[in-house]
Parts: sequence; structure tokens; C-alpha cells
Amino acid sequence: MTGDSPTILIVEDEPPIRRLLRTTLTAHDHRVVEAPTGAEAVSALRHYRPDLVLLDLGLPDIDGLTLIGRIREIAPIPIVVLSSRGDEAGKVAALDSGADDYVTKPFGAEELMARLRAALRHRLQQQGAERTFSSGDLNVDLVRRLVRKGAEDVKLSPKEYDILEQLVIHAGKVLTHKHLLREVWRDESVDPQYLRVYVRQLRQKIEADPSTPRHVLTEPGVGYRLV
Ligand code: CA
Repeated sequence: MTGDSPTILIVEDEPPIRRLLRTTLTAHDHRVVEAPTGAEAVSALRHYRPDLVLLDLGLPDIDGLTLIGRIREIAPIPIVVLSSRGDEAGKVAALDSGADDYVTKPFGAEELMARLRAALRHRLQQQGAERTFSSGDLNVDLVRRLVRKGAEDVKLSPKEYDILEQLVIHAGKVLTHKHLLREVWRDESVDPQYLRVYVRQLRQKIEADPSTPRHVLTEPGVGYRLV
């Protein structure tokens, strides 16, 4: 263990899942604090100052979405939600309430650790105001408003650029349809179908093979993620 291994607050009322999470996280050199209720989560948050919260939405004493709001008032740390398979509406509501990402139960250790790493990294990037993105042949520079695919400059329409800008600012994080409509169209009530059209156009321009995107990934029923 090193002095800077992250501390994760596990908020989960089911002991077997809590145990599984604890085992997985400690095996990956993370410190763990556990809370089986929302009330204990709030006091643990103040007492232990964790780096990230892993939050089950189905708690006995408080609605998960309400708890996300309380956590947000206390600390600007990443929140990764543990959601049930098929609960797309719950995931979207959690993300729109301020959660950073979700892991669907049952989850594999690899996937869990990857999501936690991404959430912690994303938070660091936000603090350092990351304005560039580089992956494979794609390079985006938000300061100079430059997008390049390999050696060639990519020309984007204003809407396509605005979508890509949001994805770069939040690289690695899933952005809901509502988030993108709010930031790009300034109107959450716009039909998400427009968003799909623009994302398709964006992929035509920045993906090597737009039919199997490697950069702008679809999170079915939820939104998009830049990787
Ligand atoms: Ca539960």
C-alpha cells in the first residue's frame, strides 16, 4: 500500500455485495470505508473524506437520487452508481442527478476497477481543466478549436463540434442525452433523434470505421462516451 492509494466509500446495504466490493478494492490497493445506510454514508463522508463514492441506489433509509444530491452538497468527489441490469431509467436519472458513472450488477472486477480509475482520472482532469484529447489517430485541441484525424484536418459543423467538445471535456465519462441536449442545444426537450443524427455525422468524420466506432461509443438507452 502506498500513502496515496485512494479511499473508496462503499454505500451498499447488502452484506454479500459489500464484502465482494471490499475484497476486490483492497486487492487493488484501495482503502475502503463501508456504510450500509444513507445516514452512515453522510457521516462517513464527513469523517473519512473518501476520494470516491460507490453507491447502491436501493438503500433502506433514503432514496438514492436524494443521496446523490446530499453527497454533492458535501464533497465534489466522483460518484459511481451500482445499478441493476435493465434499469436504464435509473442510470439516466442518477447521471442527471450528478453521478459520474455506473456499474451494472453483476459486475466483473476488471470492469469495476476500470470504471473507478476512469472516474478518478476524470475528476483530476476537470481540476486541471483538460482541453485536449488524443487517442489513436484522433487529436482534439479545444483551445485552438482543431480536430485532426491522422494528418488531416477535420472540418466539423458547429453542432458536431459542440458535441465533440462536451465529450472531450468529459472524456471517459458517459454523457446522457439530456446533458448533451442541454449543453449543445440549450434545450433538454429537443428530440434525442437530432442528437443521433449529429453523432452519426460526427462519427463519419472522426472514426476510421463509422459503423464500429472506437472513439464515440453508444451507451444504449443512456447516452455517449468518448474513449
Ligand atoms: Ca440495495
